[in-house]
Amino acid sequence: MLAGAGAVAPARGRHRGGRRPPAAPRQRHHQRHGGQRGEGEAGVAEDGPAFAAAVEQILSSPHSWTHGGQLRLQRVDTGDVDFRVSLTSSMTVRKLCGYTLPFETSCYNGDLGRAVINDARWVRGAVAYGHNTAAYRTYVINHEVGHSFGHGHLQCPKAGALAPVMMQQTLGVSTPGVGACRVNPWPYP
Ligand SMILES: [Zn+2]
Repeated sequence: MLAGAGAVAPARGRHRGGRRPPAAPRQRHHQRHGGQRGEGEAGVAEDGPAFAAAVEQILSSPHSWTHGGQLRLQRVDTGDVDFRVSLTSSMTVRKLCGYTLPFETSCYNGDLGRAVINDARWVRGAVAYGHNTAAYRTYVINHEVGHSFGHGHLQCPKAGALAPVMMQQTLGVSTPGVGACRVNPWPYP
């Protein structure tokens, strides 16, 4: 469960199941507005509290990573954290994610423990999601936070199936030789 907005107590989120690889970080998290740091962030579209609230709402869903109760998450505003979620301008994304990614993608930077959400994508979404920007936002948060738990990328398993949340749906939902999946923003749809 996530604590309510404004919670400042250190989190106690722990993964109690056995699915997490040993190298994965402990699982508290901290939502922070990436635009508060660095240069060139003037174009970031959403204000920090609105973004943090959206992230908290998405990660609180029973369809998100806390499904089944094996994992608990708590939003904290100070102190030690296990991962952060930042809304970041495209140019800063390139600094934090590397220059080899396709333009306007998001990433998880394991060294920083930070899910870096591309501001342009947050506003516009992705082709596979059409006009459903809300569903795309849900997808991108769940996907990048999934990396913080050690999950790697998956492909479309079968034509017509729901796309795994760890598929790179920003780039499309088809896998060559398999076919097209349907968009899916949740780890546990
Ligand atoms: Zn990814």
